[in-house]
Amino acid sequence: MSRNVYKQIYKKIKKYQTIVIARHIGPDPDAVTSQIALRDAIKLTFPNKDVYAVGASVHRFKKFGSLDKINLEGLNSCLLIITDVPNLDRVDDIVNLNYQEVIKIDHHPCQEKTCDLELVDETASSACQLVADFIYKTPLKMNVSIAENLFLGIVSDSDRFLLSYTTAKTFQVVSKLIDDYHLDFSRLYPILYERPINEIRFHGYIGENLEIKESGLAFLKIMPEIINQYNVDLATPSNMINDFNFIRDVLVWVFVTYDEKNEIYKINIRSRGPVINIVAERYHGGGHKFASGARVKTMEEVDELIKELDNICHDYKGM
Ligand code: AMP
Repeated sequence: MSRNVYKQIYKKIKKYQTIVIARHIGPDPDAVTSQIALRDAIKLTFPNKDVYAVGASVHRFKKFGSLDKINLEGLNSCLLIITDVPNLDRVDDIVNLNYQEVIKIDHHPCQEKTCDLELVDETASSACQLVADFIYKTPLKMNVSIAENLFLGIVSDSDRFLLSYTTAKTFQVVSKLIDDYHLDFSRLYPILYERPINEIRFHGYIGENLEIKESGLAFLKIMPEIINQYNVDLATPSNMINDFNFIRDVLVWVFVTYDEKNEIYKINIRSRGPVINIVAERYHGGGHKFASGARVKTMEEVDELIKELDNICHDYKGM
């Protein structure tokens, strides 16, 4: 990453009085912690600027800090920074925003440049790794709560350093955060991992009902009755999908969750071999090589997607 990009982004942050920081719809911990950490670092460095972290709030993520409820239409031309999202059409809550320039800080693969300035590194474990590195390489300030949020985003998106996007750089950044801010990191883990007993029971349901094909493709269609029966929500399957890694017979695994309100099937896909984002992209989706998502309107499309994934598992195994 050229040092110039860090400088250029910092200069833009210095220039604008109003800055809005947004992330993707259906956020995960890395999306929320990266936007809150960046907002707080800018506020700490420039207390007189108006800096807002926007998007729908998620009850589960309250412990990371609060998001800003503001009337975006009322803002004069501002700087928009998007974190953890490659495309503007997946950014949450910016339709009414009149922004002058847009900057992206992200670790998703993206073919085209879509923003005025981009700090994109698809080999980074998380958006938080990039935000931490950015803060360290510029005059922006950090404090303990910012460092804690960055730590939690990195831990969550790397799945506790299990995923292959974890590199020596990830450990360098984490080690520096722990050292510089004396992070009591074991105290932080319940923020990410504590959950109610009904979620554990739902986890058991998934294990019991996951269908596994000969190719190594596993899938489960989760209907609203099951969501209601276990008293979980539509985001729960997404939060659990990484737990089903390292199953000997499984190469690619898929959860399909029907969202009745929006009449759409939300699909989470993970892989420990075949590249899956190229398939997800054909079904209104995308993401990383081994962690992708998609959204389709009909069960026929769901079945087509499952068939395509079954085929790539076959090809991968050379069957
Ligand atoms: P998820 O399964 O929702 O945790 O998503 C895994 C990865 O795929 C994340 O990096 C998401 O940003 C990305 N992703 C999920 N759904 C979509 C979608 N419909 N379009 C593009 N990327 C997606």
